[in-house]
Order: sequence, then C-alpha cells, then structure tokens
Amino acid sequence: MENHICPKCKGEEIKKGVMGATVGQVHMYPENKLRSKPSTISTEYCGNCGYIMSFYVDNPEDLG
Ligand SMILES: [Zn+2]
Repeated sequence: MENHICPKCKGEEIKKGVMGATVGQVHMYPENKLRSKPSTISTEYCGNCGYIMSFYVDNPEDLG
C-alpha cells in the first residue's frame, strides 16, 4: 500500500508506533486461544495530526 499521505490533514509524516499499555505492550491474541503466544500490534500514524492510518499484527503467523 503506497498510501502514505494522511487522509485528514494531507500530512506526509507517517510514523510507525506500537500499542502500549501503562505496563508493557498491547498484544493480539487469537480468539478462543488466549493462552497461546500473542503477537505485538503496530500502528502507522500521522506525525502531524495524530490520525491513525493502520493497525497491524506484527506476526500473524504466530496466532495460528
Ligand atoms: Zn494528519
């Protein structure tokens, strides 16, 4: 996907981030397999207005 322009403010400063909690990092677990190995979640967001462009699981193959 080559869409690296913010749809809200037309900014081009798209940054990558990770979902964090107060302690540690937010992870994605497969439904009904909450004890299996989770994957971290990353985001891409606009560095200008803060609009979040996308969420994605870093290692979807790990989620089974
Ligand atoms: Zn923006």
